[in-house]
Amino acid sequence: MSLYQTEGIVLSQTPLGENDKIITLLSPEEGLVRAVVKGARKPKSRLSAVTQPFTRASFQLSRGKSLDRVIQVSLKTSHPGILSDYAKVVCASYVSELVAELSPEKQQNREQFWFFSSVLDHLEQREDPWVVVKWTEVGLLLRAGLLPSFDECALCGGEIVQPAYFSAEAGGAVCGKCGQAKDAADWAGVQAGNLALGEQTVRAIPVSPGTLKTLEILRDSGNQCPNLTAKGQVRQEVNDVLQQCVDHALGKRLKSSLLVGSILVSPHRE
Ligand SMILES: [Zn+2]
Repeated sequence: MSLYQTEGIVLSQTPLGENDKIITLLSPEEGLVRAVVKGARKPKSRLSAVTQPFTRASFQLSRGKSLDRVIQVSLKTSHPGILSDYAKVVCASYVSELVAELSPEKQQNREQFWFFSSVLDHLEQREDPWVVVKWTEVGLLLRAGLLPSFDECALCGGEIVQPAYFSAEAGGAVCGKCGQAKDAADWAGVQAGNLALGEQTVRAIPVSPGTLKTLEILRDSGNQCPNLTAKGQVRQEVNDVLQQCVDHALGKRLKSSLLVGSILVSPHRE
C-alpha cells in the first residue's frame, strides 16, 4: 500500500454503494484527487464529518488504480461561517464546481490551491459574497488563460469608446466604432466576416464604462479580493459578462450556475 500525505480542500462528495462515498479534493501537489472514504455513511463514522464539502484538512491517502483512499484526516477548518449561511453555501458550491472544471487531475498546481483556499476564507469573512464570486470567476479564468480582454477592443485593438459591447465569442470587449449597429444581433451580422466566424452570429451585450472598470479591478487584484461592491446596472452587466465568459470557457453551463445567479442579483441581506 503506497501512502502519501497532502493538504486538501473537499470540493464535492457523491455516495458510493451503501456505506461509502467518493470525494473530490483540490490539493497543491496533486491537483484534483478523487478518493473513496470507506464507511463514511455509517452513523458513527469518524471520517464523515471531516470530509464534508469546503473542509480544508491534511489528508493521508493510499494510492489506488483509479481512485485513492482516505486513511486519516487532520482537520484545519470546516469553514463554519459558510455552512451557517445558505447564500454562502450556494456560492461555495458554485466556485467549487468551477475550480474542479478548471483544474487538471493529478497535476501539481500550488498556486491554484492557495488561491482557492483564500477564496473560501474570503467567502466566510465577507458580508456580501458577490465580489468574492466575481473575483473567483475572473481569477480562475485568468489562471487558465481563458479570460477575454476588457480594456482594449477585441476586434481592432483600440481604445474602448462607448457604446461598447462585450462578446466572449469575439474575444472580449468591442469598441463603439467596431460595433456601430444599434443592437447586438445587428452588429453581429455586420461584423461576422471581420470576426472570421463565417456565417456564425456571435452573441454580444452592451456594457457601460463602470462595468469594464469593475472587471479590470477584479482582474488586476491578484490574490487579494478587492473591496468593492456594485448595484443596479453595473452589477447586472458584470454578472452577464462573466456568465458568458464561464459558459464560453467551459463550453457548457454549470449545474449550480442558475441558483448562484439568482442569489447574486442583489446585494446580500439588503
Ligand atoms: Zn474596435
